Amino acid sequence: MAVIGIMSAMHEELAAVLAVMPDEQCVRVAGRDFWVGHWQGHEVVAVLSRIGKVAAATTATVLLERFKMDALVFTGAAGGLSAEAQVGDVVVASGFLQHDMDASPLFPKHEVPLYGRSRFDTDPALSHALAAAAAQVLSDPARHLGAQAIADFHLHAPRVHQGLIVSGDRFVSTTAESQVLRRSLPEALAVEMEGAAVAQVCLDYGMPFAAVRTVSDRADDDAHIDFNRFIRDVASRYSLAILSQWLMHR
Ligand code: SAH
Repeated sequence: MAVIGIMSAMHEELAAVLAVMPDEQCVRVAGRDFWVGHWQGHEVVAVLSRIGKVAAATTATVLLERFKMDALVFTGAAGGLSAEAQVGDVVVASGFLQHDMDASPLFPKHEVPLYGRSRFDTDPALSHALAAAAAQVLSDPARHLGAQAIADFHLHAPRVHQGLIVSGDRFVSTTAESQVLRRSLPEALAVEMEGAAVAQVCLDYGMPFAAVRTVSDRADDDAHIDFNRFIRDVASRYSLAILSQWLMHR
C-alpha cells in the first residue's frame, strides 16, 4: 500500500489531521514529531513543516530519509498575488520558484545554482487529483466551515486555481512588496514561505510532490489582520476536507 507523507504548515492543520487518525505513533527526529499511522485506510506520516525554507527543507529531508514514502503532500496558507487568487480561494501548485533566490550575475535571477532551473514542478497527476478534491470541497464551503465563517470572511464563491506559487523567507505584508513581486513574477498566483524548498528536496529524492494552499491574505498592508483566525476557521478546515476527499478517492 502506498504511504503518504503529509506536511502541514500550521499547528491547527496538523491538529485536525491527528484528530482523525485513530492510531498515530510519535517518532521524534531532529526536534520534530513525525506521526505515523492511518487515515481512511491509508498509511500516512504527518508532520508540521515548520516555517521558512530551511526549516521546511530539513523536515522534508528527515521525512524522506527516515520513513518509507510514495508521495508527499503539503498543505498551508498563502498570500494571493494575482488578481484572481482571492482570500478563501485555494491554489494547487503546478510548480514553485524561490522569489528571494538571486545569484546574479553568476546565474540568472531566481535560478538555483547547480540545478540549472528556477522552477520546480509538482507531480501533475497528484496535483490534478488534489485540485479535483479541492473543487469538490469548495462547491459547498458552508458544509466545511459553517455559516458564520462564510459571512465573516465573505467567502461566497471560493475558487480553485492551479499555477505557479513562489516561496521566500518573508511574510509578504506590504502592498509595495507585493507589487514588486507581481511585476517581477507576473505568472505567480500566490506567495508563501516553504513550498519551493520542499519541492527542491522532492526533486532530489525523486519523490512525487503536490501542494495545496488556502489564500489567507492578499500579501498586502492588511495581510496580518485576522490571519490566525482565518487559519483556525477556514484554512485548517479546508486542508482537512481536501485531503480527506482526496484520500477517499485514491
Ligand atoms: N502564526 C503562524 C505564523 C505563520 S507565518 C504560526 O505561528 O504558525 C505564515 C505562514 O503562512 C507560512 O507558513 C507561509 O508559508 C504562509 N503565508 C501566508 N500568507 C503569506 C504571505 N503573505 N507571505 C508569506 N507567507 C505567507
